[in-house]
Amino acid sequence: MLKLKNIRKDYVTSSETVHALKGVNLSFRKREFVSILGPSGCGKTTLLNIIGGLDHYTSGDLIINGKSTRSFKDKHWDVYRNHRVGFIFQSYNLIPHQTVLGNVELALTIAGVSREERIARAKAALDKVGLAGQYYKRPNQLSGGQCQRVAIARALVNDPEILLADEPTGALDTVTSVQIMELIKEISEERLVIMVTHNPELADMYSTRIIRFLDGKVVEDTDPPSAREEAEEAKEERLAKKEAIYYIDRKGKRKKSKKSKEKAKMSLPTAFRLSFVNLLSKKGRTSMVGFAGSIGIVGIAMVLALSSGIKGFVANMQDDMLSGNPIEIAQTAYDLNALTGMMENSDKKDIIKNPNRVYINSLVEYLASMNESVNNVLLENTITQEYIDYVKAMPKEYYNAMLLGYGIDLSPMLYTDFVAGGSTEAQNISIHALTSIYTSILSETEFGAYASYVTALVPSFQQAPSNKSYILDQYDLVGEGSKIAEGKNEIMLVLDKNEELTDILLARLGYYTQDEFIELVKKVTAEEGEYEGGVRDSFSYDELLGKTFTWYSNDQAFTKVNTGVSEMYMHNPYSDNFNKEEGVELKVVGILKPKENVNYGSLSSGIYYTEALTDMILENNAESQIVSDLNAGNYSPFLINTGVQTIFGASYSYNYVFDNGDGNTEPKSAFGMVMNSPDMASMMMGNVKLVTEQAEDFCRVLGGNSCANHVLIYPLSFDDKDLVTEYLDKWNADGSIKVGDKTYSPAERNEITYTDTLELVISIINTMIDVVSYALIAFTSISLVVSTVMIGIITYVSVVERIKEIGVIRSLGGRKKDVSHLFNAETFIIGLLSGLMGVGITYLASIVVNAILKPVIGYGSICALPVWQAAVLVALSILLTSISGLIPARSAAKKDPVVALRTE
Ligand code: ADP
Ligand code: MG
Repeated sequence: MLKLKNIRKDYVTSSETVHALKGVNLSFRKREFVSILGPSGCGKTTLLNIIGGLDHYTSGDLIINGKSTRSFKDKHWDVYRNHRVGFIFQSYNLIPHQTVLGNVELALTIAGVSREERIARAKAALDKVGLAGQYYKRPNQLSGGQCQRVAIARALVNDPEILLADEPTGALDTVTSVQIMELIKEISEERLVIMVTHNPELADMYSTRIIRFLDGKVVEDTDPPSAREEAEEAKEERLAKKEAIYYIDRKGKRKKSKKSKEKAKMSLPTAFRLSFVNLLSKKGRTSMVGFAGSIGIVGIAMVLALSSGIKGFVANMQDDMLSGNPIEIAQTAYDLNALTGMMENSDKKDIIKNPNRVYINSLVEYLASMNESVNNVLLENTITQEYIDYVKAMPKEYYNAMLLGYGIDLSPMLYTDFVAGGSTEAQNISIHALTSIYTSILSETEFGAYASYVTALVPSFQQAPSNKSYILDQYDLVGEGSKIAEGKNEIMLVLDKNEELTDILLARLGYYTQDEFIELVKKVTAEEGEYEGGVRDSFSYDELLGKTFTWYSNDQAFTKVNTGVSEMYMHNPYSDNFNKEEGVELKVVGILKPKENVNYGSLSSGIYYTEALTDMILENNAESQIVSDLNAGNYSPFLINTGVQTIFGASYSYNYVFDNGDGNTEPKSAFGMVMNSPDMASMMMGNVKLVTEQAEDFCRVLGGNSCANHVLIYPLSFDDKDLVTEYLDKWNADGSIKVGDKTYSPAERNEITYTDTLELVISIINTMIDVVSYALIAFTSISLVVSTVMIGIITYVSVVERIKEIGVIRSLGGRKKDVSHLFNAETFIIGLLSGLMGVGITYLASIVVNAILKPVIGYGSICALPVWQAAVLVALSILLTSISGLIPARSAAKKDPVVALRTE
């Protein structure tokens, strides 16, 4: 029983207040067919909406089954609409992207009915309205009459007590109208039907009661229920209510029911399914939106892919790089913590300045602080024999090779045959003097200013690690009979990556005749196109192999002379007067070239000798006279006054011939010096060494110090590097250390800082990759923001487009929450789609990029997006689009269902 008590409805607009209903009093029977007639605008639809709980009255009361609705909340109205009321509209209001079945199911879907039951009930409802077999058609494939039948099926599927029809035949032709009316008539036998119509004949023909409306008021009611009827219905209701409190359980007992079973609640999966169907019906647009949304994701994903790919590449190169970057222990090390501190400390304190004065910028203070910082950064290691013993005692399985350096310079001790300028006869000359000759020649040319760099640029003789298989892992032997140098008499040449050797190295080693070398000089100094001579551009393997050098001990290479004024040491540039028997012959036995896949070998291009030779030199030269003098502190024979400064070493004189264009072919004489060249660090810092330090250094140059001052350790692999560093760290840690049968307490040990260049390089590279990645991600994020905003806008457009659907869902009892769930689900799906597309595009692009770059860099996954990052990006995409959809979804939920349904 439905009762309207003095219902008023005012619409307040900005310009006026419309009194749509002006006090309506009506009672309806449980079963009857009521037609409401009246001119347009008299308030019929308003009345229907109020009865249906879609719109709310301004004053009065609506009594449903004897219960006032004044205290009804949204959720009560939702349940009421979903379970008690069915709506039919003039314009059917079917959802175009759902099938016929889907449309009918909607009311059950909102009620949270299970899928199977839903389909069964929806099909039954459709069968009842004569649409059996049309379940899977779309509304636009049906005629108007059929559409209205679908709408009726939808209204009836929940078996409501009241069917509200707002001009159901308004859009139909006469024949169809009659059919629909017949259907409604049939329905009215079981429930209350209230129909608004324009057509008095149809109303007369089918309905049992006609109510005429005019200007918001009832003007005629043909069959209002009598007072007796009302009393009877009220009684019936009371009984029914009592019944409803109890229910019969499975054992047949009457039990009190706790709560009404009726609810209107759409489940979240349902919201997703509905949104998915909607998106599927707009494939084109959805994929465009997904693609647009994915652009930002692609940007970030590509940056991440490259970043991790490059890191992978670096990790892949680690072992390769390791042979070129061994762990180094040297007399100077860099304290990296202090280095970073130095950069941070450079900012100056602000002082409050008087505007009328010129302040002094203290450069002196700056220099002092710089000096202090530099001193903090450069660490002096005091390497003792004990430490060397400790390092040597390192388990052999930790490393491939260990190279002990003694600071020996072989060039004053090695002599080789050389054909001087204008001559055909070979002279036996020291490498040192040979270098001086070429330096002198170059200094007479137009690039003379650079001549002194000759020695700095070209590697001198170096010792190779004594691990044959380790070297053969990285290098191939070329040339017939070529082999790895093993004994003290053997030396080898190492070519660079292009299988070349530099001209200056070859000149220094005496491979060129002086005339050949001068041709090189002439060619580069000649005017464009003026050079006519021929330049030697290559050597055969045979020419390189077999070249010999003779090593002479210090006692032969250096002579102490008394000039009458003072005593001094002279170096003998030519071996003319030597006892040839005393020399040790060294022979080039091998030519090595780096293997194809090796980028960082343990040997750089140059000439290498063996550990055996080092041992021999150390043994012989320790006893030499020049070393004894140095060790005895008798420095005066080594101090040479050049007139400008006093330098330390042994001098020698040599002759050379060079016609620098003036036609002068007379031999010129010059002076050379054998001494240590200051190491790069002290050169940079401008450190001036004390005479004692220079003496020590010179002693080393001459092979007079058998305590190594430089160690290179080549670990087995990047991962095994830790074994080495852990071993070295132990020296600096607490506790005593046993080396052989000696034990050292912490107090007996100096802290030694080793340099692990590779670790440093890799961490710098990784930090740089990270920094660059963050910067790029920040940039690409802009496109992500743009696409997120765009998705928000598109969702808003979708809300506007689906406003009718929102109205229908609400009229079927859908909650505001259900509507917002629907749009949130939609943005969620779009977010998921863009995320997956973005990640997918990135993986596809990675395949292409990797395929292109593989031949160039020899590494096949420079673009490698880790799966977890891909997952995070998809989640991020979902999160962002969901956030962007929140506002449109809220606005959709807030839409007044009445307005939504009135919208055309
Ligand atoms: P009917 O269905 O009888 O043609 P309605 O119930 O649709 O009439 O409208 C009754 C009156 O209320 C009309 O004057 C109409 O303009 C007005 N009205 C209906 N809805 C609104 C609204 N949302 N805001 C303002 N006025 C409204
Ligand atoms: Mg109307």
